[in-house]
Amino acid sequence: MSSASGFAAHAADAPMAPFSFERRAPGAHDVAIDILFCGVCHSDLHTARAEWEGTVFPVVPGHEIVGRVTQVGAHVSNFAVGMTVGVGCMVDSCQACASCAEGLEQYCETGFTGTYNSPDKHLGGVTYGGYADRIVVDEKFVLHISDKLDPAGAAPLLCAGITTYSPLRHWKVGPGMKVGIVGLGGLGHMGVKLAHAMGAQVVLFTTSPGKEADALRLGANEVVISKDPKQMALHANSFDFILNTVAAPHSLDAFLVLLKREGTMTLVGAPASPHPSPQVFNLIMKRRHLAGSLIGGIRETQEMLDFCAEHGITSDIEMIRIQEIDAAYERMLKSDVKYRFVIDMASLAA
Ligand code: NAP
Ligand code: ZN
Repeated sequence: MSSASGFAAHAADAPMAPFSFERRAPGAHDVAIDILFCGVCHSDLHTARAEWEGTVFPVVPGHEIVGRVTQVGAHVSNFAVGMTVGVGCMVDSCQACASCAEGLEQYCETGFTGTYNSPDKHLGGVTYGGYADRIVVDEKFVLHISDKLDPAGAAPLLCAGITTYSPLRHWKVGPGMKVGIVGLGGLGHMGVKLAHAMGAQVVLFTTSPGKEADALRLGANEVVISKDPKQMALHANSFDFILNTVAAPHSLDAFLVLLKREGTMTLVGAPASPHPSPQVFNLIMKRRHLAGSLIGGIRETQEMLDFCAEHGITSDIEMIRIQEIDAAYERMLKSDVKYRFVIDMASLAA
């Protein structure tokens, strides 16, 4: 074991504060990583403020990690010292169930080990995430980051990127499809970039009129202010697929009625309290689908990173120092993120 330092929430209503803890010594299959950058996901905020059930304090959030390999175990075959690598939302899974066998570790039937706030199989207690100087991870859960990608802009791909890429692929988004993305935050702006790169016609739904120009620059063909029923009505029955990234409860009906017959709306946003129940008639009259999706498997995460390298896609980021994390959370709550905060981990030494 060796000591690591990071930032933790010690209670739901306490500001984030410096925290020292232990990382395990790298085992035969482990990769030790010095963390360079960590993206700030709304899930970090939900967890740090105990908006979801099950937060174990102190919690060190962070699951959009990019760093450099400092040490590898004797049986590590895919990574070497000095490589730029990524770690996303998962650091382990059972590797034996049907979902793991299909490369869908996020749906591991015994539950995957989250990068933070999950039972730690090695040290006991819970796992600590990427708001820290170092991390040790089994090589199966470490990703290659191409030299073509800016490392800071690549960090948000590890959660925001894969969480939008996976459903866009699963529902076969491509040329000839009209696709809606709801919410222009961290996930939403990656959804716009990826759906555009996949060749779809992209419509961005936002509650923030000030984000229109950015949405068009990011790849949207059209922007709709979702609070304006007249603008919404112009798109009735026209979408093949809608990806909803909103982090707060809202009426799903306003979007369901925009789907064509047999169209699908997939929820990836995970608000702390439920959405009002949708009207069943909006589903049954046109055989519409309402679905959900959780991050993506490791194989697909590497596929997404390679797709982004090939298409020159990274996240639009605002770099912050770790000491600014509480202010970043407050701005996130006001939908004022352009479009992902990324922590420069060098600031930890300050
Ligand atoms: P974010 O950066 O805060 O973006 C959320 C966006 O939702 C906001 O920028 C805003 O966009 C819109 N929004 C916020 N409040 C709203 C409201 N009351 N009504 C309508 N729209 C609202 O958050 P994020 O990091 O992208 O995460 C989004 C959600 O996905 C969170 O709940 C997070 O926990 C969840 N998540 C899920 C997965 C998964 O695997 N399913 C993975 C990662 C994150 P506009 O200003 O454009 O309206
Ligand atoms: Zn996340």
